[in-house]
Amino acid sequence: MTTQVTDHKGGVWSIAVPIPDNPLGHTLVHLLETDRGPVLIDTGWDDPDSWDTLVAGVTACGFGLTDLHGVLITHHHPDHHGLSAKVREASGAWIAMHAADTAVVRRTREAEPGQWLDYLLTKLAAAGAPDDHLAPLRKARATGGGRKLPGRRAALPDRGIDPGALLDLPGRRVRAIWTPGHTPGHVCLHLEEEHPSARTPGFGRLFSGDHLLPGITPHIGLYEAPDDGLGAHDGAHEGESLREGTDPLGDYLDSLERVGRLSPAEVLPAHQHAFTDAGGRVRALIAHHEERLARLRALLQEPRTVWQLAETMEWNRPWEQIPYGSRNIAVSEAEAHLRRLVKLGHAEGVPGSDPVTYRAVG
Ligand SMILES: [Zn+2]
Ligand SMILES: [Zn+2]
Repeated sequence: MTTQVTDHKGGVWSIAVPIPDNPLGHTLVHLLETDRGPVLIDTGWDDPDSWDTLVAGVTACGFGLTDLHGVLITHHHPDHHGLSAKVREASGAWIAMHAADTAVVRRTREAEPGQWLDYLLTKLAAAGAPDDHLAPLRKARATGGGRKLPGRRAALPDRGIDPGALLDLPGRRVRAIWTPGHTPGHVCLHLEEEHPSARTPGFGRLFSGDHLLPGITPHIGLYEAPDDGLGAHDGAHEGESLREGTDPLGDYLDSLERVGRLSPAEVLPAHQHAFTDAGGRVRALIAHHEERLARLRALLQEPRTVWQLAETMEWNRPWEQIPYGSRNIAVSEAEAHLRRLVKLGHAEGVPGSDPVTYRAVG
């Protein structure tokens, strides 16, 4: 175990906590010193090696685990919130999270083991997934199998993170910026203090979680949770799953603009590395999604199901080479883009089609 700790100066450190068997490699857990003891921003994946790295990292920053005052969670994903329960247990620190993500944590904890499989089956069938894709899920459901959800034992937070509010952190000035998109309750935290090196233009530093990363486009799906959409197939007609509800990609693009307007001098993301020029990165990400939406609209000159759309969209490799589980993620990404087009009035469901096919409008 090697501990990679970076001193970002001004009472801010990052600890690279490994994510086992994941190409992302690490979660950058940030430690922020306050007058009442250090506060962690995210905690890392729940794994013994990750835990040891986190503990060693806190020590390397010059603190003990019992000094910890609180834990601020950018969003509920297990590479960010996984170790929170352990940290709270070992230190007595409170855990804070935006209410929309706390709701996801609560629903995941309460979900029956088979519920996620039921949800996936319903959703994929409605998307037009072929039988050979559904068969393994049906088999797992019938035999009572299926993987355990990583969030089943995730910690319920002790307090909320209110959008736009200054956090109660003695001696520090940190404002919560609600940035839904990657998850419904994702927050960025703006450290409204002069950058310690003050060489870069902009103001303060932004803990950006997964919202703004230097070299990765975060996954935008449909805010899925295991108890969503159950029974939605009964009596579902054209556009049922898309007619109501959320527009995560729209949320994400709005959140990006909001963060761009903050013009932080430096961004401290939860993966990869710290970077400057937040505005440039924001513009690149918005352009990426606009381009994707335009291409999708062109593909819908011919009516397609969500599955067929996902098959023909451009991914980081040909569809045939995308592994089984990643295809499910690709389908939800396609759905999020499709929903945006439907919201904008650029696409619609074809009446009477089952599974629903979509076509471009105008
Ligand atoms: Zn995430
Ligand atoms: Zn992440």
